[in-house]
Amino acid sequence: MYLTAPEDLTSLLGEDEPAYRADQLRDWLYRTPVLSVADMTNLPAELRRRLADRHWPFRLEIEQTADDRTTRKWLFRTPDGAAIETVLMGYPKRTTVCISSQVGCAMGCTFCATGQYGFERHLEAGEIVAQVAYANAALRRSPIAGSPDHVTNVVFMGMGEPLANYDRVRESLRRLIETMGMSARSITVSTVGVAPGVRRLAAEPWPVNLAISLHAADDASRSEIVPLNRRYPIDDLVAAAREFFAAKGRRVSIEWTLIAGKNDSDRDAAALAGIAGRMRAHVNVIPLNPTPLSDERPPDPSRVARFVRALRSAGITATERDTRGRDIDAACGQLRLRSARRTELPDAAAAPR
Ligand code: SF4
Repeated sequence: MYLTAPEDLTSLLGEDEPAYRADQLRDWLYRTPVLSVADMTNLPAELRRRLADRHWPFRLEIEQTADDRTTRKWLFRTPDGAAIETVLMGYPKRTTVCISSQVGCAMGCTFCATGQYGFERHLEAGEIVAQVAYANAALRRSPIAGSPDHVTNVVFMGMGEPLANYDRVRESLRRLIETMGMSARSITVSTVGVAPGVRRLAAEPWPVNLAISLHAADDASRSEIVPLNRRYPIDDLVAAAREFFAAKGRRVSIEWTLIAGKNDSDRDAAALAGIAGRMRAHVNVIPLNPTPLSDERPPDPSRVARFVRALRSAGITATERDTRGRDIDAACGQLRLRSARRTELPDAAAAPR
């Protein structure tokens, strides 16, 4: 039912249903989501039977938990066989869901399991927003101890490049904010550098947060690990980020995946500090979550700490982001990779990684 726009739900119900049923259904889908149509208690039994198969645009294929059950990772499967990854993370004051915007990704970043897997298709707006609704429904049934019992924050940091699927991502933002009632300020759209998309987002009515995955501070090295940089080099990205800041008054964040020997030197930190200063951005440093298809590794903890210290002494606000769920393939694309191995390479699935 999420594939139908919230305003068009009457078309699913048929002419015999009273007009207020669409409002009731919309509430069950967006305001107080439930895992099963059977739980939509104010809908007549016959209607619930009719809608039962149409509730979610995907089915749950794998669920994994980690970090003392404060992280849950789901792999959903759509009727056309596409795999969607979603990660739910509970913290003391927030519950964040990391959602996917595409199946696979065409950007080809060398450190990313999704990039190494290639692009399959865009996700529909309904498939994007349903990941958040599912997380809310799952939390209603089984909250994360010590965390809010509903999704407080959404990050578009799962599979795919959100700004390469602009119109559908935009529609999902509209539904999250205007139908689900989320605050735009609690939603972060992350991009690997689609500069025109950043400019379009700056012109939207919602003050969402923007995160830019930078990972390298000069064009030659960045183009090596983020091929899109050849199209939209760093100066273009800095200019787009500054426009976003000017339009929205929201500080941009730079995501920096720290890769041993690649982008973890003092010189890298100094160059990054220069860019962050120009963007007026704060920096999230994320030690690499290794993928099975690449030899790249995170630096040791002392090098990570030194890198963060160097940024701070250059006057940049920098935080080391925790890497949730390392033991459950939580980096984007990894669970999908594992699921594909199970179906395509049965022997590999049996071997521990
Ligand atoms: S890091 Fe993001 S943009 Fe790059 S390949 Fe992975 S999913 Fe795509």
